[in-house]
Amino acid sequence: MTVHIPFDNSYAALPEAFFTRLPPTPVSAPATLAWNADLAAELGISGTDPDVFAGNRVPDGAAPLAQLYAGHQFGNYNPQLGDGRAILLGEVIDTNGIRRDIQLKGSGPTPYSRMGDGRAWLGPVLREYVVSEAMHALGIPTTRALAAVATGDPVYREQGGLPGAVLTRVATSHLRVGTFQIFAHRGHIDELRTLTDYAIARHHPDADGPMGLLAAVCAAQAELVAAWMSVGFIHGVMNTDNCTISGETIDYGPCAFMDAYDEARVFSSIDQMGRYAFGNQPRIAVWNMAQLATALIQLFDDKDAAVEQATAIVHAMPGQLQAAWLRRFGAKIGVADAQADDQALIEGLLALMQKDGADFTNAFAALGQAGARDQFTDRTAFDDWDARWQARVGPDAAQIMARANPQIIPRNHRIEAMIEAAVAGDMTLFIRFMKVTSQPYDLKLKDNDLCDPPTAQEIVPATFCGT
Ligand code: AMP
Ligand code: MG
Repeated sequence: MTVHIPFDNSYAALPEAFFTRLPPTPVSAPATLAWNADLAAELGISGTDPDVFAGNRVPDGAAPLAQLYAGHQFGNYNPQLGDGRAILLGEVIDTNGIRRDIQLKGSGPTPYSRMGDGRAWLGPVLREYVVSEAMHALGIPTTRALAAVATGDPVYREQGGLPGAVLTRVATSHLRVGTFQIFAHRGHIDELRTLTDYAIARHHPDADGPMGLLAAVCAAQAELVAAWMSVGFIHGVMNTDNCTISGETIDYGPCAFMDAYDEARVFSSIDQMGRYAFGNQPRIAVWNMAQLATALIQLFDDKDAAVEQATAIVHAMPGQLQAAWLRRFGAKIGVADAQADDQALIEGLLALMQKDGADFTNAFAALGQAGARDQFTDRTAFDDWDARWQARVGPDAAQIMARANPQIIPRNHRIEAMIEAAVAGDMTLFIRFMKVTSQPYDLKLKDNDLCDPPTAQEIVPATFCGT
């Protein structure tokens, strides 16, 4: 079937310094594993074609390229990264009038591949597909998954030869903090200015100049990270090259949703120091915005004044994060418009959850129901909290909580089992997963085995980088 994609490309019209033009590298035997028909309709894409979404045929109107960027990885500046295994095919204007990137990930080497092979294997491709679509269903800004296609070629990783796959990722753009950093660090001010104007027009049209852009990105990132916290999501690699200007979650590598609540929880096998631990995410988001500020300051002649202005904007972010956190966690305990006084009540519950290792998702989902105290081991302490909570909430609490507490998240041990089955050629678990995680607030899901936390044997101690 020939697929029609109504391309309308803008990034490809930017200066050549922003990217390298090249097509994806063909693969042996493209075969569709997953196709997101709803998203395709939203994008105006008719039908699918494994040859296109594996990178074997460049569709009409595409302007394939690999984007250039840099970034701080675990706090250290890497002067050049770029799309090492991704190709931007182009952009479409969706049915809501929003410009969306269509990118192949795992589509072969590029000039930015460094030591990598430019490929992805089936496991990380399906993990990103499931988790990004689950995040969307949870109402959290994220890149989307349009297609997953098997390549028929093996990919070699520590585990040995694994089945290769290509993910088609859709984003409101792939602009990152690192896209700004590369031009700022190189002193390429004209490119930095062009990029700033482009980002404002595309994402934050009301922003007044570079400082307006900084403020808008800070606000978007504060909302995003508070939303992650509210569902127990751990991104795992919050490097500045994985931090978007749009405020969408991007790059699902060693990410995971927490089962047992733990502020210090880390999943990523490469995060030895716990830099990107659950409870550190708000601080890291602020740190990343300080890097964006540092880049944008280069646009000003009066550096002292720019530093002062940028500092004030970045210093306002912890307050924004805190306000967003309070609003979201207030809703999780059934309080709309939570006030500063409610902070202690919320923190009291989280402290109990931390002490008892309660399941984050299930404990919140059970609040106000008969089984709530069973989620805790120290029942007396819970009863004490419950009494204080009952005194605080009103008759609309259940309704508020139903919209704030998902019944289901894509649990790590289930994702691992889904990947294992898919490698063996069985996609039924993937299909089931997609179905239930698409309606996370549906109360009827309760008692579904996919809601169960892992047993001691099932706990996945670490996730590995998405390479
Ligand atoms: P990440 O932190 O996973 O987003 O990746 C950081 C950088 O490594 C980006 O420039 C990626 O394009 C690149 N990269 C990751 N995996 C590969 C791979 N298998 N081949 C080439 N480049 C890769
Ligand atoms: Mg990345």
